[in-house]
Amino acid sequence: MKGIFGVSIGTTFLNVDIMKRTCTCRGWEMLGIPCEHAAAVILSISQNVVDFVQDWYKFPMQELIYSGSFSGIETHDMPMVANDGLVRSITGEVFLSLNPPHTKRPPGRPRKKRIES
Ligand SMILES: [Zn+2]
Repeated sequence: MKGIFGVSIGTTFLNVDIMKRTCTCRGWEMLGIPCEHAAAVILSISQNVVDFVQDWYKFPMQELIYSGSFSGIETHDMPMVANDGLVRSITGEVFLSLNPPHTKRPPGRPRKKRIES
């Protein structure tokens, strides 16, 4: 199969090479993702554009690239506030209450007249 197709946009003519994965606009080579011209050709021959995207964008390659970079971290379940006001973890661990401290208003009316300095 000869994989070179001519694409015209207005007065501009471009060559798309399906086998070499190139286009005269250079977009396909630079990004590894078919440019709009290549995509038009791929669709015109009833192929899937995704199949012509470089493998480095796809999950198996990404997984290989990053497999050594991440290690698992310990996860903790969200603690719950029980009816008694105590905070308990899923495993039953009890934590101090997160409620604000009780404050008492001083007796009597609030002072209306400010003391001038
Ligand atoms: Zn192009």
